[in-house]
Amino acid sequence: MAVAPAIRTAEIIAVGSELLARQRIDTNSLFLAERLQELGIELRRKHVVGDHPAELRDTIADAIARVDLVITTGGLGPTDDDLTREAVAAVLGRRLAVDPEVLAIVAARFERRGVPMPSVNRRQAEVIEGARWLPNPNGTAPGQVVDTGDRLIVLLPGPPREMQPMFLASVVPVLAARASGRQVRRRTVRTTGFSESQVEEIAQPIYSRFAAGVVPIDTTVLASPGLVELHLSGAAEDVDALEGVLDRASAELVAALGDAVFTTDERSLEEVVGAELAARQLMIAAAESCTGGLLLQRLTDIPGSSAWVLGGVVAYANAVKVEALGVGEDTLAAHGAVSEAVARAMAEGVRRRLGADVGVGITGVAGPGGGSDEKPVGTVWIAVAAGDTHARRFLFPGDRQMIRQFAASAALNMVRRAIGAKVPAPDR
Ligand code: AMP
Ligand code: MG
Repeated sequence: MAVAPAIRTAEIIAVGSELLARQRIDTNSLFLAERLQELGIELRRKHVVGDHPAELRDTIADAIARVDLVITTGGLGPTDDDLTREAVAAVLGRRLAVDPEVLAIVAARFERRGVPMPSVNRRQAEVIEGARWLPNPNGTAPGQVVDTGDRLIVLLPGPPREMQPMFLASVVPVLAARASGRQVRRRTVRTTGFSESQVEEIAQPIYSRFAAGVVPIDTTVLASPGLVELHLSGAAEDVDALEGVLDRASAELVAALGDAVFTTDERSLEEVVGAELAARQLMIAAAESCTGGLLLQRLTDIPGSSAWVLGGVVAYANAVKVEALGVGEDTLAAHGAVSEAVARAMAEGVRRRLGADVGVGITGVAGPGGGSDEKPVGTVWIAVAAGDTHARRFLFPGDRQMIRQFAASAALNMVRRAIGAKVPAPDR
């Protein structure tokens, strides 16, 4: 018997008119994309198609012509707008017939619930000629796998709670046996304090060299306020060689990006800072104005944070800065609330009054109003008091929420630097 050809490429087709409206988004393909990557199967395209027979047939036919594996989700229900079975059968030129075994299972589900099976549900027992049907322990519609010899077409139900267990139990084993033997490995390098373009400028010459290597690896750059991360991944049969290349690429990037790198093991900035504080047995306190407690929220999101977080003051109004933190009224009058002097007084005040080892002060203009020529929206002063006090002025881009996130991230980074956190070596 001929060995079935390897499955290297895939397309996903999410079926359902509701996915074209604003009420529902296709999340099934996100789950499937990740599983396919783990299997070393390259996802080439994904589609969202409404419940229209012609479009559905076209999309399925085009996908089958291009790739080894086509996965559909949705459109396996009992009603007239559930068309996936018919469409796949039509494209393949195969008949659709009620499978007595499936019909018995569908009927039994209704019996257990004590209701007669509506006749429309017979459609859910229709199986494509030559297909293997897949049990659905969490719903009525079974899945189906059609193996044409050089192509695999997999039909899965739409509801994620039915689709996901079915895919894991019944489809992954088939794909694992037919995957090309390539395995996927990843590394992540997370930086803070640099913009996306600064990271790109430093990293691009390095990762483009690795992209052209004998064991090529892909790098993507992802940015969010205060965080720019590099995702390195590759797929190869020789896993040891791949791991070696990923380690070298990651080490070169870490060396080039220097202190901007805060982790290579996927921890968040607050986790890293928390661990550094805990390792040094330091307690932190924060006085937050424009961030309104966001820094403390992020720090206390980490389980076990009571070991390093003391607490803080949301000092929004000047009166609170004066009364709760001891910021001088003359300082506020002379420099304004958004100033180096006030940030320093906030950091030192909260450190002294709460008895913390590290005090943080954040004061800025989050906007959209309140900016001036001298202090435009996005101006934030941050001070960290830990023996010495360091203060820095930032000008963050974006809207109010982004500026607040940037400010909290920058404060975490200043704490990281103040306590002398070291860049960890790449893992493995
Ligand atoms: P269906 O199998 O087409 O009857 O889909 C039933 C339900 O599953 C839909 O109403 C959605 O709530 C959900 N669903 C279908 N497709 C998707 C998808 N691609 N991502 C997330 N949910 C989906
Ligand atoms: Mg549907």
